[in-house]
Amino acid sequence: PVFGQLSFNDHEQIVFCNDKDTGLKAIIGIHNSVMGPALGGTRMFNYATEWDALNDVLRLSRGMTYKAAITGLNIGGGKAVIMGDAKTQKTPELMRKFGEFVHSLSGRYITAEDVGMETSDMDLVRDVTPYVTGISEERGGAGNPSPVTAFGVYMGMKAAAKQKFGSDKLEGKKILVQGIGHVGETLVDYLTKEGAQVIIADINEERLNEVAAKYNAQIFRGDDLYNADVDIYAPCAMGATINDATVNKIKAKVIAGAANNQLANEDTHGLILQERGILYAPDFLINAGGIINVYAELAHYDKAEIMRKTENIYNTTLEIFDYAIAKGITTHQAALTIAQNRIDLRKIENSKK
Ligand code: NAD
Repeated sequence: PVFGQLSFNDHEQIVFCNDKDTGLKAIIGIHNSVMGPALGGTRMFNYATEWDALNDVLRLSRGMTYKAAITGLNIGGGKAVIMGDAKTQKTPELMRKFGEFVHSLSGRYITAEDVGMETSDMDLVRDVTPYVTGISEERGGAGNPSPVTAFGVYMGMKAAAKQKFGSDKLEGKKILVQGIGHVGETLVDYLTKEGAQVIIADINEERLNEVAAKYNAQIFRGDDLYNADVDIYAPCAMGATINDATVNKIKAKVIAGAANNQLANEDTHGLILQERGILYAPDFLINAGGIINVYAELAHYDKAEIMRKTENIYNTTLEIFDYAIAKGITTHQAALTIAQNRIDLRKIENSKK
């Protein structure tokens, strides 16, 4: 049975979108709308199977619920995936058709960009629906949110360094950035400016050379980056890189990065990290800069206010570390618990209205 097979069966609504003419195959996941309409990006990826796509959208949309709640935004959690190769199969027709499906949900789900999407794609979605954010400045939007995401990750990383090493200075720290795309590159910029020793890894050789030259960063050339002798590991590519095969190898003392759902299993892998003395900065907490930015675009866009809120990720991250110690739980569980409490409280408030 489909419902039974959903890895997280607490979702409110899953929408399967199919269009023969454009070849669109997409899934929209609305996890929770207690705090407000579900906001979350669209990812286009060449999934090996449809189950992989479904699983991804379920994990991602659930993550958005907690990301919004821990950040204090009045939005719920949702996400969409489009199955296919973003480089070869994405057409304006396909993006507009996807936009029509988003529109059919009447605002219950608001989309934005994620992996495989550009601001120009969101502009195409905007042609057919107002329920999209992360659109270009020419169209009245705020453009790509990735630089703000990178700033937030940088703040979360500094907080983690303070907690683990006693100082938030990253100068001289060996930091491995895995994935130097939209977010990763800006993060490398912040880190190199602070004098960190940055090592970059990516599957895209061209980008590696480009970014290495631009920021004078070192390219990772070993055969196993999880074994790398570094102080900080920043996962900024795809999720689930902390899994059964990697979790016991990691030598970094801090993990702080942009990727969503870094822990393949949020309980067991979070616990192993804790037992191994590796400080994990919860992904959905420190990568919230982008959602802060696209959320602001929906109402009143004030860049200074956005950067201030994103900078505050530093304080929130330290609070979460303290809470985790006080409760004897993992940092991931600490962030989840606080977010869940806010949602539960709002649910009670909503029911009284
Ligand atoms: P992107 O597509 O611009 O960049 C991803 C990079 O990772 C690419 O350069 C790609 O070649 C590389 N990559 C893919 N698989 C890899 C692998 N196995 N090993 C090494 N490198 C690999 O994506 P992005 O917008 O920079 O987002 C990066 C991550 O951060 C994603 O997990 C995304 O969901 C998350 N995130 C992004 C934002 C945002 O504002 N863009 C916000 C929150 C979370």
